[in-house]
Amino acid sequence: MPKFSDRVERVSISGIREVFEAAGDDAINLGIGQPDFPTPEHARRAAVDAIEAGKADAYTGNKGIAPLREAIAEKHRADQGIDLDPANVIATAGGSEALHIALEAHVSAGDEVIIPDPGFVSYDALTKLAGGEPVPVSLREDLTLDPAAVEAAITDDTAAFVVNSPGNPTGAVSSEADVREFARIADEHDVLCLSDEVYEYTVFDGEHYSPMEFAETDSVVVVNSASKLFSMTGWRLGWVYGSEERIDRMVRVHQYAQACASAPAQYAAEAALRGDRDVVEEMTDSFERRRDVLLEGFADAGIECPVPQGAFYAMPRVPEGFVEECLDRDVIVVPGEAFGEGGRGHARISYATDEEDLREAISVMADAYEAVR
Ligand code: PLP
Repeated sequence: MPKFSDRVERVSISGIREVFEAAGDDAINLGIGQPDFPTPEHARRAAVDAIEAGKADAYTGNKGIAPLREAIAEKHRADQGIDLDPANVIATAGGSEALHIALEAHVSAGDEVIIPDPGFVSYDALTKLAGGEPVPVSLREDLTLDPAAVEAAITDDTAAFVVNSPGNPTGAVSSEADVREFARIADEHDVLCLSDEVYEYTVFDGEHYSPMEFAETDSVVVVNSASKLFSMTGWRLGWVYGSEERIDRMVRVHQYAQACASAPAQYAAEAALRGDRDVVEEMTDSFERRRDVLLEGFADAGIECPVPQGAFYAMPRVPEGFVEECLDRDVIVVPGEAFGEGGRGHARISYATDEEDLREAISVMADAYEAVR
């Protein structure tokens, strides 16, 4: 039998899928990581217009169409004061591809990549696929990533560390002081800070900061995506930016693996970036309301939960058997350990779901908690 690569044998399908498959058809799903809003009308329209005008039939340049990269550069200039040259942006097939090409371009065989634990499942898997070794770092009690823990984990083999604020699966948002520290650590140790900012617009308390704002060398690469910013998960359009040299290396991977991001999606994302931000505010307000409903329900049920300050996830502390009890009662939640050993003893709840369903699910979770505590 033709053999498989050692690298691919080190990764398996994410544990989240298994939970979905174990649930009944009518189950309330608090496992899905996507906003429950439609893509903004102006973004859809731009894609349709581009298709009808015959502008989306052919490959675009490897890095993507110029107007999209200009819109991305303007966005980051306006939101974060970053002086970003559109030439230093690559449009990708979602934030997922952006993470993939960033790690492929920076990780050699045996290199270590420091990742938050619990953390988004792709960091571990994509590090392994790049031939590297993930080094999980435990989070603080409040589920934020501690810069001191990252710095202590750096060795001569460290190629990169990943930061993700607002975070999946935690909903935690890093403070300005911590983000400044991430930039300093990357600069001083000559390791890459890979900053995953795909939930940038979903912050309830405090503000979003990027290590790119504070770094003094080219030690930071940022990943972002239209998926969660504009509720466009199906379009598969993200981007990555960094110094000219880093973009040059990442585009080598992107060119051969992908050629270019989908042309219609590029037009849609450009329109989303340039369009009215009321829809974004509406989404954030709605997630914040639902977060508050969830936290109130947990408090009433005696379930302890660090207060998520962004994204649309919460990670309550739960006893063994809680996830299964919820599944038996037709509510899908994801076991924390699906995101790394550090997630054990927690469940991840995505509250990007209909408010009525959420209220029903809260009462089910309270019963499930009562049954296993
Ligand atoms: N980064 C984080 C933290 C995520 O949660 C996700 C998706 O869930 C992604 C990146 C990738 O998103 P996409 O490929 O849809 O842009």
